Amino acid sequence: MARTDNDSWDLVSSVGSTATMVAAQRVLSHREGLIEDPYAEPLVRTVGLEFFVRALDGEINLEDVDPRFNTRRAAEGMAVRTRHFDRLFTDAAKAGVRQAVILAAGLDARAYRLAWPAGTTVFELDQPEVIAFKSRTLAELGAEPTAERRALAVDLRDDWPKVLLDNGFDPAQPTAWIAEGLLIYLPPEAQDLLFDRIDELSAPGSRVACEHIPDVSMFSDERSREIAERLKTYGHEIEMSELIYHGDRNDVVDYLTGHGWDVTTQKMPDAYAANGFTFDEDSTIGLFSDMSYLSAIKH
Ligand code: SAM
Repeated sequence: MARTDNDSWDLVSSVGSTATMVAAQRVLSHREGLIEDPYAEPLVRTVGLEFFVRALDGEINLEDVDPRFNTRRAAEGMAVRTRHFDRLFTDAAKAGVRQAVILAAGLDARAYRLAWPAGTTVFELDQPEVIAFKSRTLAELGAEPTAERRALAVDLRDDWPKVLLDNGFDPAQPTAWIAEGLLIYLPPEAQDLLFDRIDELSAPGSRVACEHIPDVSMFSDERSREIAERLKTYGHEIEMSELIYHGDRNDVVDYLTGHGWDVTTQKMPDAYAANGFTFDEDSTIGLFSDMSYLSAIKH
């Protein structure tokens, strides 16, 4: 279903199901030993979306959808992504940052799986049903956060800074922010507002990581439509082209640079190479060849 201004969701519907989708990919990376995320699998299984449970049970073969894209390839892709965002937090921690914000946290379990230095507070922001599901499911599993975790139910198009400030966020301290897999789901003006707010709340020494996708048209081009059609025959119902906001938006690199942040980007093929993997332009992942992983520091 197409997006609307005040739409909301849980982990089996609309944008929320994309959080389940990427967590399922983290299961593959974890199984391959490329990342350490033991919580992804119980979370995805508890959400219970049939396509992902069947894929994890080996009942759906990724090669049947794209002969050049197998489980190992999917695991590598998610490992590159996960390591990028993990690094933002571990580097910030080494530099003395003790306040972290996971924007659009979805089923991200970093507040439970990273070795945060003592005294770190990790804020997680997402839609109410997403936040409630994760907190409840991880508590039922007996998982303990490895930092002071504050899970906040917000809509990132609304006044989330107020919620953050009301819950003990300290704008005088430097902050490590991540917005992983978020920007394409925000309207262009909400993306600008997001970075305006991050900038306003960021003391010098703050850091941020996100993806940089210069052109979102590949989410609706012929190749991605073909992949989506093939996935549908296996029961994969997520229509990415309906969930994202199309059209022009401000370039994140220019935007952050213009706000005084030092920005570093790494294109996908280079990010793969840096992890010792090969980027196969002709497979499903080739859709993302223009994407970069971005990190930035505010001085
Ligand atoms: N960052 C997580 C990860 O990488 O595993 C989740 C990424 S998932 C692709 C997109 C996430 O963005 C979902 O959890 C969704 O609920 C969240 N999201 C998108 N738009 C949002 C909004 N307006 N307010 C709150 N959360 C939002």
